[in-house]
Amino acid sequence: MRQSKLFTKTRKEAPADEIAKNAELLTRAGFINKQMAGVYALLPLGLRVMKKIENIIREEMNTIGSQEISMTTLQDPEVWKKTDRWSDEAVDVWFKTKLKNDTELGLGCTHEEPITKMLTEHLSSYRDLPFSVYQIQTKFRNEPRAKSGILRGREFLMKDMYSFCSDEDSHNEFYEKSKIAYKNVFQRLGIGHLTYITFASGGMFSKYSHEFQTICPVGEDTIYLDEEKGIAVNKEVFDDEVLSSLGLDKSKMVEHKAIEVGNIFTLGKKYSEPLGLTFKNESSEDLSVFMGCYGIGIGRLMGTVVEALSDDKGIIWPESIAPFKFHLLALGESENVKKEANSLYDLLLSKGVEVFFDDREAMSAGEKFADSDLIGIPYRIVVSERSLKEGGFELKKRTEEKGKIVSQEELLKII
Ligand code: ATP
Ligand code: MG
Repeated sequence: MRQSKLFTKTRKEAPADEIAKNAELLTRAGFINKQMAGVYALLPLGLRVMKKIENIIREEMNTIGSQEISMTTLQDPEVWKKTDRWSDEAVDVWFKTKLKNDTELGLGCTHEEPITKMLTEHLSSYRDLPFSVYQIQTKFRNEPRAKSGILRGREFLMKDMYSFCSDEDSHNEFYEKSKIAYKNVFQRLGIGHLTYITFASGGMFSKYSHEFQTICPVGEDTIYLDEEKGIAVNKEVFDDEVLSSLGLDKSKMVEHKAIEVGNIFTLGKKYSEPLGLTFKNESSEDLSVFMGCYGIGIGRLMGTVVEALSDDKGIIWPESIAPFKFHLLALGESENVKKEANSLYDLLLSKGVEVFFDDREAMSAGEKFADSDLIGIPYRIVVSERSLKEGGFELKKRTEEKGKIVSQEELLKII
């Protein structure tokens, strides 16, 4: 893509009402636009990143055999009344609305109930089990505080997966597979080294749930980490009894602030019983399905990568989710530079390389470098009078101070 054609503009100053670093950098670099508190639009660069994150998550969920679906945003209160989750006392983040005839509706904040109810039409025998479904979909939550940029939105993208098994053993098997899939996701997003599986409160069925927490000073959660074992415990369940049951040594646990990027829950029969999701076992007895649920905050992940991997000049995208892999900069007004840069751009495109071409006229080298650092594309290629004189192009990683001159052949080999 040619930068001269991109309608979004970078800005030097952060928006006055934005205190979160993720939103500040993403706004200045032209990835997102704030519509109101906790509500952000995605601009072309931001949409490219979001789609890449989605696809990594999609690949990992498909790998463990989950099937993608897409549930509706509009919610029928009758389904939620069956589990006592329609009232504002039970779920305090509902957005509710009404039909013209005054019938109440909700905007989906999660989807256990409608999915469980829907599956009563598709599930009958033990032979149908186990299986799981997931979706990548917008959730609506009336969050009281929305000051953390895209880390906590009132409208945000989530991957939510639900598993359906005949019994607890079969559930545990899938639960373990989901942990591996989650680890792979965070590894591929470049935050694997900062993200730890964390014991948290379990809710109704099991003693614990598991959260995936990324260590970061702006995180809202507090965790205690045993770095050697790679296991953390959320502050909400951190006590001597829990530590000894997990074989953890209090003196080795270090306190950190962290962002919850995902969580996995054993639900048991919490939803299948009230909603009548049953199957017939080998002896034709009707049993309730044993369920689990598995969330990842996709928008929150994008914000977390920005919080965790940026520097004082701007964002540093990992290659896997960068909007483009190469940022090609043409410096100066020389016709020769323009010609060389344009022909390199065409060559890279013909090789299927994702390249963002700063072909803007009347821009100083300093301004182009500053924008490039702010946007955070992993590799920068500079074409200038000087680079051409020295035999080619200057190639530099976003994380390196200095680049090196490479010829066109060398560049193609590296790519
Ligand atoms: P939190 O404690 O942060 O409010 P939660 O326990 O409400 O999270 P879930 O309902 O289990 O989270 O949602 C699954 C995942 O969706 C979370 O792990 C988080 O990554 C993400 N998420 C939750 N709420 C938001 C939000 N308001 N904005 C962006 N992402 C969110
Ligand atoms: Mg919440």
